[in-house]
Amino acid sequence: MLMIKNIIKDAGLTFMLGLLFFACSSPGKKDEKSSGQLEQKAQVKTPVFNADSAYHYIDKQVGFGPRVPNTETHAQCALYLESKMKRFGAEVIVQEADVVAFDNTVLKAKNIIAQFNPDKNDRLLLFAHWDSRPFADHDADASKHNSPIDGANDGASGVGVLMEIGRQIGKAGIDMGIDIIFFDAEDYGQPDHLDLPYKEHTWCLGSQYWGKNPHRDGYYARYGILLDMVGAENALFFQELHSLQYAPELNQHVWNIASDIGYGNHFVFEKGGMITDDHVYVNKYRNIPCVNIIQFNASSESSFGDFWHTHDDNMSNINRATLKAVGQTVLETIYRER
Ligand SMILES: [Zn+2]
Repeated sequence: MLMIKNIIKDAGLTFMLGLLFFACSSPGKKDEKSSGQLEQKAQVKTPVFNADSAYHYIDKQVGFGPRVPNTETHAQCALYLESKMKRFGAEVIVQEADVVAFDNTVLKAKNIIAQFNPDKNDRLLLFAHWDSRPFADHDADASKHNSPIDGANDGASGVGVLMEIGRQIGKAGIDMGIDIIFFDAEDYGQPDHLDLPYKEHTWCLGSQYWGKNPHRDGYYARYGILLDMVGAENALFFQELHSLQYAPELNQHVWNIASDIGYGNHFVFEKGGMITDDHVYVNKYRNIPCVNIIQFNASSESSFGDFWHTHDDNMSNINRATLKAVGQTVLETIYRER
């Protein structure tokens, strides 16, 4: 994804959203909660997110090798993702698309779309990119700029967390319709080391295609949550600026839930950067309000941590506590929906 340097730090709004319902009292009992009184819904059956499992799914993806479109390792990983999501009980569509990269390479992209409760109209969308970057344009060793990275954090972490969420949904069931989409060709954007003139829209090619050609005519979801770079130790998730523009209430809602369930150390109520990522195109083309849960590190040069787009983006930087914080927060969010 592309970072547009735009760091504004101020305190976030802290209004509470939450699912409210009218309290009922049993007949004959002194009515302490008169009708009309509101209280927060307390009983939400949210499955327990297993970070070991998510870690394993990340390790498996990285184990295939780089997931760069038009390569054999990419094709193998696509089959793995498709078969796992089917095993978790999803109805899976692999959307194949020819998309054109910044250098006019035609990429044979595959968007992997896993649908739970496909017949329900009322849907939520969770997404991440599954491809890995063909360049290491931020690596300190310039001789390695043109070799593909592992993308353990940048790509595989979001997918691994969503796979574990899919597994939990498959086991527990869920009332809502849920779509988990792994978008392809997100990270084939114009590399910085080539110093090319700026060209718009070279990132997020899979989500751009899907946005214009959704797997179902007129596809809509109540909202979307994007996970990107959600595996680094002590990762901080600031509120991304496109997300605040498109979906300010959802952003507060998700951050409030994280705080409620004990992950406020990762989810920071402050503004982060403005990031061109898949959520921009899902919002733009499908008009679905989306938030991006993405690491933001104001002190590192890239804002995404020192190993971003380098060969150090490997399994040694994947941390189970961070996976748990993100995975449990997203599960809690979708299981509170009614
Ligand atoms: Zn990237």
